Amino acid sequence: MTPSMHHYDAETDALADEVVKYARWRTRLDPVPLGEAKTEAELREACGETITPEGIGGYKALEIFAETLQPACLSTDYTKYLSFVPAAPSEAAVLFDLVVGASSIYGGSWTEGAGAVFAENEALRWLADLAGLPTESGGVFVPGGTVGNLSAMVGARGAAKKRLEAAGKPLPSRWAFVVSDTAHSSVPAAAMVMDADVIPVPTGSDRRMKGPEVAAAIAEHGTRIAGVVATAGSTNLGIIDDLDSIGKVCQDADVFFHVDAAYGGAGLAAPSVRADFDGIERADSIIIDPHKWLFAPFDCCALLWRDPDQAREVHAQHAGYLEFLDAHGDWNPSDFAIHLTRRARGLPFWYSIATYGTDAYAEAVEITLDLARSAAALIEKAPHLKLVWSQELSICAFERIGWDAGQYQAWSEAQMASGESFVVPSRHDKQPCFRFCFVNPRTTVAEVESIIAALA
Ligand SMILES: *Cc1c(COP(=O)(O)O)cnc(C)c1O
Repeated sequence: MTPSMHHYDAETDALADEVVKYARWRTRLDPVPLGEAKTEAELREACGETITPEGIGGYKALEIFAETLQPACLSTDYTKYLSFVPAAPSEAAVLFDLVVGASSIYGGSWTEGAGAVFAENEALRWLADLAGLPTESGGVFVPGGTVGNLSAMVGARGAAKKRLEAAGKPLPSRWAFVVSDTAHSSVPAAAMVMDADVIPVPTGSDRRMKGPEVAAAIAEHGTRIAGVVATAGSTNLGIIDDLDSIGKVCQDADVFFHVDAAYGGAGLAAPSVRADFDGIERADSIIIDPHKWLFAPFDCCALLWRDPDQAREVHAQHAGYLEFLDAHGDWNPSDFAIHLTRRARGLPFWYSIATYGTDAYAEAVEITLDLARSAAALIEKAPHLKLVWSQELSICAFERIGWDAGQYQAWSEAQMASGESFVVPSRHDKQPCFRFCFVNPRTTVAEVESIIAALA
């Protein structure tokens, strides 16, 4: 029997043209529309049956995607999408994602993916060098900051356990992580998965976790501490903990030091803010999401280890069917996080850096920082708005004077429904606020002005 798929014929070739045509059109599209979610009933009505015994054909399915499904997704690269952390993958990165998909690469082992892993490691090296990690450091690209934080925290616990065992001390009945009160939600979530506690460190009026408070928490909780998680660029306000003093305390106490720079890590490439990250070179592990502010498509988080062997000890999977891959002590990306099979998801990022050069990265991050500075100045000038926090990194958080939570929500929904902007409320000190997060160098000051005017 001839299979009805798995062969490349004239029809496939024509379909390839259509798919590439679509990808080229979407990559070139400027401006991109915001898009709008639809209900499940609306989508079902518009799509009809797509899963049938005979198949509906590639043209039809592509048409449904282009006309119905894609417009029902928000374009995270829309220039006035300023909520959460948006995305702004470079053209080269987006295009190369197609190449990665077409190449059937298994990115879990050196034997199977050497070429891809080599290139991914080059990209990881650039990040490790920006952070000032030693040459023996290295890591892997994982899907996102959540898996990155969890993998790092499991590594931290492994190191703590090993240290206690070596000292002949009993293991704690429950592990705990020292975290700042601005830590991302994925940090307590990871602790919960590990059945560990989080010990939030009180921060002062500047909201920065600092060495003395961390030292106090370590002294109080002793051998229960599996590690310290600092944030370099909090998601809500862009706050960077005092990495240098925390790093010193961790070093002195021999406690694992993880830095969550999922959003903020891109700032390492920007000379104007690099000094704010001083001390990050003391980290035992760092995460940075290139899918956030380093212009890579979803999903892509760089997880870096000072000592990759520490990661191997807790993350390498062992089985008879895997022994072949371990025979030569190769660099197997699977060994450095919670995963086995993996897409070589760092390749679009590598291709983009290779294409444009690291100077272009520094420039693009600086452009978004300038945008945030301009936006903060505009907010300060606007009589109806008030900055609730000084602009940090590329985030501006501000209040619409006189509005209650319902008014914030209604305004955001109306803006979204009209396709005008995607700026949703957040909270600061329990009060509603808005927040601009700039990662898209295509966003203009004029667009920010138009949003500010719409808030009047
Ligand atoms: C976004 C973010 C995360 C989670 O990353 P995902 O890629 O969304 O899983 C973790 N920490 C910080 C500081 C973040 O901004």
